[in-house]
Amino acid sequence: MKITIVGTGYVGLVTGTCFAETGNQVVCVDIDEAKIKKLSSGEITIYEPGLAKLFERNLNDNRLSFTTDLAKGITASDIIFLALPTPPGEDGYADLSYVLRVADQIGGLIDKYKIIVNKSTVPVGTVQKVREAIARNARCEFDVVSNPEFLREGVAVEDFMKPDRVVIGTHSEKARKIMGELYEPYVRQGNPVLFMDEASSELTKYAANSFLAAKISFMNEIANLCEKLGADVDMVRRGMGSDGRIGKRFLFAGIGYGGSCFPKDVHALVNSSNQADYDFQILKAVMEVNRLQKTYLIPKILDYYSGDIKGKHFALWGLAFKPNTDDIREAPALYIIDALLEAGATVTAFDPEAMENVRQVVGEKIAYGPNEYDSLKDADALIIATEWSLFRTPDFARIESEMKAKVIFDGRNLFNLDTMEGLGYHYESVGRRVIG
Ligand code: NAD
Repeated sequence: MKITIVGTGYVGLVTGTCFAETGNQVVCVDIDEAKIKKLSSGEITIYEPGLAKLFERNLNDNRLSFTTDLAKGITASDIIFLALPTPPGEDGYADLSYVLRVADQIGGLIDKYKIIVNKSTVPVGTVQKVREAIARNARCEFDVVSNPEFLREGVAVEDFMKPDRVVIGTHSEKARKIMGELYEPYVRQGNPVLFMDEASSELTKYAANSFLAAKISFMNEIANLCEKLGADVDMVRRGMGSDGRIGKRFLFAGIGYGGSCFPKDVHALVNSSNQADYDFQILKAVMEVNRLQKTYLIPKILDYYSGDIKGKHFALWGLAFKPNTDDIREAPALYIIDALLEAGATVTAFDPEAMENVRQVVGEKIAYGPNEYDSLKDADALIIATEWSLFRTPDFARIESEMKAKVIFDGRNLFNLDTMEGLGYHYESVGRRVIG
């Protein structure tokens, strides 16, 4: 099939590349000229495991191309995906201006039947708004379909190639048949393609992300309570997760969720609820718990240094909002950096992928280590903000030789408490007893 993706960011590039991988002809459009220039010359613009290989193969085989010309992209294809940003607007509602601006232009550019598929995460009613925007200028038949994306950054290619489910919201039989055929290669193992009305499809995405965010905030509150009651959140997690009704995943306590999706989607659903005159109380609490959790380590750090960290130097492992990505949007590490600098401390950070992105935001207000061990030089303490596998079994003798003191504040509960006790560290984590 001939497919165009408008918006070549995380979702757009993964979607375009993965559609090309099953033999489709794909054109990716973006307004960012530098990005399109890089991609066209074979340079990938995001880090995502497994993506570079597929990108290279499909680019070389001419199934994947890039352009800044929307008209060229629209005329080339029968199915147009919108993978555009929907950031929180000033009022907390999802900002639909990117999506609607493109929809406004599409009407005048189509001259035969096309399916416009919205992959951006949007509030209920957006399909209708996009349809109206296109209809203002359109001279031919078209369908607008909702197809929310559930891929996770870090495992995006795997998620796209083998999705747990594909959700498609449409009333059109014609669009339903074509979309079913398009996704058929991705659900050969029997995972469902769920067809539903547009409103249910749009809400499914927000409901799924909000539920997962609630699971994280719930566990983080259990962890905070564990500290007060002398329980161990890892034990509680195992006890809970063994119950098939609860499940083992998404129960790890830590310093909160970040990224481009959970914070904005929870916020947007709260605002959509308000607009519909419904007070979504649980989600409001989820947001507040997460806000506090991101800097949960700071009072612990201040306590350890009797309230004064002026002049102290901290090593910070992990900047990305989660492992296997270079994405730092809403990353807890950024909040920790702000709090440390404000209190007069200095920071040397290390992250396997996200340092360039942080440098663009924070600049040289902090130092950046060439690797995890060199970042520890002369540090009074190490803070861990992201659970990269690389950090899980470090050489503790080397850590000790680089740092001024054996002190670790671990926001991701990476290390075994008995091990840390045996090694003689002062070790504080989340929801577990303090060592040393
Ligand atoms: P992104 O910011 O990485 O990418 C968006 C791209 O759109 C950028 O490259 C930008 O230059 C481009 N763009 C902006 N205006 C444009 C225009 N007028 N024409 C062409 N291109 C334009 O965003 P993303 O993370 O890919 O997210 C896109 C959507 O998918 C959002 O609604 C998001 O909520 C949703 N989503 C994201 C994820 C994720 O993990 N990142 C997962 C599921 C759903």
